[in-house]
Amino acid sequence: MRASQFFISTLKEAPAEAELVSHKLMIRAGLIRKLGSGLYTWMPLGLKILRKVETVIREEMNGAGAVELLMPAIQPAELWQETGRWDIFGPLMLRIKDRHERDFCFGPTHEEVVTDIARKEIRSYRQLPVNFYQIQMKFRDEIRPRFGVMRAREFLMKDAYSFDTNKENLKKSYQGMYDAYTRIFTRLGLKFRAVAADTGAIGGSASHEFQVLAESGEDAIAYCPESEYAANVELAEAISPATKRSEGKESMQEVATPRMKTCDQVAEFLGLSLQCTVKSVVRVSGTTMYMFLIRGDHTLNEVKVTKLAAEEFRPATEEEIEAKINCKPGYIGPVGLHDSGIVIVADRTVAEMNDFVCGANKAEYHLKGVNWERNLPLPHQIADIRNVVEGDSSPDGNGQLKIARGIEVGHVFALGTKYSEAMNANYIDESGQTQPMEMGCYGIGVSRVVAAAIEQNFDDRGITFPRAVAPFDIAIIPVGYGKSEAVREVADRLHNELTAAGLDVLLDDRDDRIGVMLAEQELIGIPHRVVIGERALKNGQVEYQARTEKEATLIPLENASATLKSKICL
Ligand code: ATP
Ligand code: MG
Repeated sequence: MRASQFFISTLKEAPAEAELVSHKLMIRAGLIRKLGSGLYTWMPLGLKILRKVETVIREEMNGAGAVELLMPAIQPAELWQETGRWDIFGPLMLRIKDRHERDFCFGPTHEEVVTDIARKEIRSYRQLPVNFYQIQMKFRDEIRPRFGVMRAREFLMKDAYSFDTNKENLKKSYQGMYDAYTRIFTRLGLKFRAVAADTGAIGGSASHEFQVLAESGEDAIAYCPESEYAANVELAEAISPATKRSEGKESMQEVATPRMKTCDQVAEFLGLSLQCTVKSVVRVSGTTMYMFLIRGDHTLNEVKVTKLAAEEFRPATEEEIEAKINCKPGYIGPVGLHDSGIVIVADRTVAEMNDFVCGANKAEYHLKGVNWERNLPLPHQIADIRNVVEGDSSPDGNGQLKIARGIEVGHVFALGTKYSEAMNANYIDESGQTQPMEMGCYGIGVSRVVAAAIEQNFDDRGITFPRAVAPFDIAIIPVGYGKSEAVREVADRLHNELTAAGLDVLLDDRDDRIGVMLAEQELIGIPHRVVIGERALKNGQVEYQARTEKEATLIPLENASATLKSKICL
């Protein structure tokens, strides 16, 4: 490819709104351009990268026995009404009407559409298993689109859906996809980890997320260096502490804590560690008020809490709290509330605490030296409701947890029969019985993968793509392409030879200043470059440098194509 016939448009500065390295670099390198909030054009250079990621995904999906199809992006409401998700999907779904006032959505995902295909096309166990996949734009009206294509509204997803006769076979399909994902992310040169994930509202029996490890990741993952254990913090179990509750040493007393509403302030004021304090969080589900108790240095796990009641939780308003507890938030606590109608749920850690500090249910006061069964009855419920922290015991009992940050690039999910039962997607088994199909779904955020790859591969000069995701394998940079016939002849010849050898070559024939061309190539992240200048040519040499190397080396012009090819294909 000649740069003059392609389109490269780079910028010196990234827009101020770009926070993440990948977002800044994708804009500066001209891979994407913003159209509106969460809407991006993939410029020619960016699209080349996206297509390379797609190619790896397609090869591995096909290799794993999945078959590609393409479903409509626009979906009729009726299908979503069959599964009940039209009403519960919420504002993430972009709803649209056609000219006949009929309801549609722009597909945020495709379980309903693919299940409709399956129920119409699959009759017999002989047609199973089957795994359909597509690579297609999804739309989710994200509340906070940000970080460029990392969390966009329109984004490219590979979504696959497996259909099996029974749970045993679903397990095999699931494992097949898990293995394919491992191969895909390995081939893409990413440092990643597969972690157990919450099965959430979709239900289902098993779920793993593929997380690319990066400081900037939105997800927290807990893992145990001594064992295989790895889970999203949303799911990771906080087990009961090894040290159990004992007789408290103190007796309960009320202490004035003027204007001190947070555990931090109270602990500092009382000269105690934050670990001696208990935080009371009040939520409402339906008509029931709940008080969740977690240790002052811990945080409430929203996903775990959601599972404690049938109806969704919302924070209690200040008025509701005052009406029920007769005290402003900031000074509330569990003492004296056991028979108030509030359901008191203590975290496992809190249930084992002695001599703790909590709100006194009296403005500007806290209680210290509080002990279970002495100053208040045991809570109505003891549950795991907090996020794990570093140093917690691993739930598998094999060591201590560490926390890392990750970017979710893929998700595999054993769905079971939720969709097939709701939509009557049945098959006839070997004995002539009608059975619901067992389903799995498997997503990869194709466009997010590009951003994630950049988060792991950059330096102060720009992107340092591994070959699998680089827009070109090598850049040929002639010095004085227009002026020197010798330079032009060698540049053209290398371009043609390397292209003929099956490599993706960029020849920068725009005859710009050398410094400008080199800086641009480094920004874009092409993994190899060869500079052709008259001086080195006179010695029968060209200058080679890998993007990740500090210095260039001279290589003989003779056999240069073969030498370069071997470096690229290393
Ligand atoms: P997240 O938790 O990041 O919102 P999700 O769990 O809702 O994602 P899935 O339904 O599992 O997403 O979708 C499959 C994949 O699509 C995700 O693993 C992720 O890589 C990608 N993806 C999801 N939402 C977005 C988005 N707004 N922008 C870019 N990629 C996305
Ligand atoms: Mg997910």
